[in-house]
Order: sequence, then structure tokens, then C-alpha cells
Amino acid sequence: MPRRRDGADVSYERIKEKLARDETVLLDGGIGTEVLRRGVYWRCHGLEQHPEAVRQVHLDYLAAGADVIKTNTFQLNRRAYSNLFHGLEHMRRIGPPGLEHKAAKLTRQAVELARQARHEAGTDSNGAAIAGVISPLEHSFRPDLAPPPDVAEREHRETVEEMKAAGVDFILFESMNTVQEARAGAAAARAAGLPVWVSFVVRESAQLLGGEPIADAAKALDALGVDVVLVNCAPVEDITAALSALAKARSSPIGAYAHIGRYDPPSWKFGFYPRFSGTDAVPPAKYLEAAREWKDLGASVIGGCCGTTPEHIRELRRGL
Ligand SMILES: [Zn+2]
Repeated sequence: MPRRRDGADVSYERIKEKLARDETVLLDGGIGTEVLRRGVYWRCHGLEQHPEAVRQVHLDYLAAGADVIKTNTFQLNRRAYSNLFHGLEHMRRIGPPGLEHKAAKLTRQAVELARQARHEAGTDSNGAAIAGVISPLEHSFRPDLAPPPDVAEREHRETVEEMKAAGVDFILFESMNTVQEARAGAAAARAAGLPVWVSFVVRESAQLLGGEPIADAAKALDALGVDVVLVNCAPVEDITAALSALAKARSSPIGAYAHIGRYDPPSWKFGFYPRFSGTDAVPPAKYLEAAREWKDLGASVIGGCCGTTPEHIRELRRGL
């Protein structure tokens, strides 16, 4: 990873320069859904059994022209495992050895795969940046389950430190569903000395899932040193509505990445089935049309969420 002797990260500086020049920064597209689309079972994010598949997805996004690649770490945290047990003692008693450290181990692996891909792609000199993705501690569509802010900050800090040690360029809090947890996460990243972006999952009418207006959410982050506020993981038209409200609320950089297809739980399949209007319902050319509208609305960071593919990102690179 390109680092100057003083430790400042050249990759992230390049992103900041692009933002300052009002150039569009291109994110990659869906990671988890793309790994699944390639036939990899979701267990452990594919990181243990099929690291080569995850690395290849990163490589394909870099080849498509992404300025930023996101680590395959969505909903990868200690709590995701501990929630499945009665408590830590119970986990130690009936779970496999080392399970309490598994999230940290997989997180480091995920960052390493993104770094390997960047190195392999030979884009180190072009400075593609690696975003360490951290999602809400509980399910991203369940703001009602969000933990209190002190707990959230402590637990997010753990993941932030793992990612920092593994070598991400900045932290992207993704699909955040409450202002409170977004603030806690941003504070944790800033305390660790890392740049931070925050992206909120939205519903129709420019609101977070819990009903907080996106404009209020953006303003609540103003004093925390968040470089970019984004909206993600909602259908294209909901993203457009939220972005429009976000643009009015914030003068510093904003961004957007929509999901396409239908969420088919529990394993993050995004409608790659005939019965759904799947990824094919929003082909790259149609996605580009939406992205052009987002750019007109003021988005300086644009990419894809669940269901989008390297073809979508290639089309954005070509057309934006
Ligand atoms: Zn998504």
C-alpha cells in the first residue's frame, strides 16, 4: 500500500484531491452479493473457503475502474457471533475453539484480500483506496435493535482498530440505521485517527428506516469530521429522493449507491431468480441513467450496493 514516510496515506489523499476538484469518485459495486452470484456459499463471507473468489471480485472492480474498493466485511463483528449464544461462557462451552476471535480474524483476512487485489492489479501507483466497511452492530434493517451509544462506540472501536492494523485507508460505516450509532462509529474511527465516511440505509421519503430524516442525520455528523455522507442499500428511486434531501442539508461531499434486485434472506441473496425482478431489472445502462441524476443532484461519490456487478461499475466509469 502506498504510504509516505510520515505515514500519511497517499491513496486517500488522491481521493480527497478528487473530491476537492469536484471530480466523481467511483466506488465499487456489491461485494457480498457478487461473491454469492458467483456460486460461493455465504458462510464466513466466503473468506475462509473461497478467498480467491473474494479477491477476484475486488480485481474485477479495480479493472472496471473503481477508485475505492470496499472490504467484504458487511455485518462481520464479534456480536454477530455472540448473538447466537447465551453468552461468552456458553459460546466457549459449546462452540468451536476460537469462535470469539473469529470476526476479528475474518476482518483481517478480508482487508488482506483487498490489499492483495490492489497489489495484483498493479493499481498501487494509481492509488485505489481501500474502504474498511463496518455495518451496524445489529441487523442493518432493524434500527430498533441498535445498542446504546457507549456500547456501540466501544464495539465499533474494536473493529476500527483491527482494520487499521490490517491496513485500510479509511473507514466506511455502511447501511447505518440510526443517527446515534452513526455518531458513535464516526467518533470511534476519528479517535483511531482514520478518515471516515458514513452511509445511511434509507427508505422512501428521504428517511432512515427508523423515521429520522436524512437531512437531520447528516447535520448530526457535522462536527465529527466525517468526510463524506452517503445513502445506500435502497432501491434507485429511494436513493434519488434521499440524495436530493441530503444535498440540501450538507455543503460538503455526499454520495450514493443503490441496491438492485430483491433481498432474499437469510443469506443476502439479491434476487438472482426468475421470480424476482433481479439484477437484470436494472442493467448497467439503466443504472448509469440514475447515476447521472445523482451527479446532477450533487453526488461526488457514486457506486453500487447489493446486486450491482463489475459491469455496472464499468458502465459508470465509461459514462460519468
Ligand atoms: Zn445493499
